[in-house]
Amino acid sequence: MRLANLRPGQNRLAEWQARSVNNNDNVELVWSNANCEVHRFVVGPVQNNVYVVRCTHSGTAVLIDAANEHERLLRVAQSLGVDFVVETHGHWDHIGAVEQVREAGMSVWVRKEDAAMLPSYDQLLEDDTVLEVGSLRLRTLHTPGHTPGSISFALESTPLLFTGDTLFPGGPGNATFEGGDFATIIRSIDERIFSPFAPETIIWPGHGASSTLGSERPHLEEWIERGW
Ligand SMILES: [Zn+2]
Repeated sequence: MRLANLRPGQNRLAEWQARSVNNNDNVELVWSNANCEVHRFVVGPVQNNVYVVRCTHSGTAVLIDAANEHERLLRVAQSLGVDFVVETHGHWDHIGAVEQVREAGMSVWVRKEDAAMLPSYDQLLEDDTVLEVGSLRLRTLHTPGHTPGSISFALESTPLLFTGDTLFPGGPGNATFEGGDFATIIRSIDERIFSPFAPETIIWPGHGASSTLGSERPHLEEWIERGW
């Protein structure tokens, strides 16, 4: 196809797609559709997942968990157009690059219950509100239990749910740390995640592999019985 045949919108898209990340940073494009891309890379001593959700029309992106390895994290964030960062919770392994992303001009958002666990932050995340990322809409779901301020994020018009350390393949996150509570994490998972979302919803946790609600939901009673 000759370039002259491309509509302006397609030109713009091609331009954004050309702005890709450096492969040496081991960033994986794990999901995409016509409007968005989800990139994932793994950082730090306990293998934290960092996600970048990017609007392909505007080139704007949000980063989920400024966890660690700030030099690599900043390089990836800047090459993908990240302009703000949301924190799934305040545990040390999820916040190691918070200061450096703030120094680089990105604002950091966190729930009020976990805010004091961060060295600093910019904004507090409300429950059940929409954060706009270009044309994308990221909805907040306060899901306490792993920590009091744990929060998950649903990307509207997609089957994607970012669960932090609240829900993993095989069960809930650890609820035995300070501020954690097993009954609370189970209630969060049941009422805020399993009940409202469809079985084909894909969960993207703070560590390890993704899963679907369809494969996790049948095990809820098992998890309650075993107590973890
Ligand atoms: Zn944690």
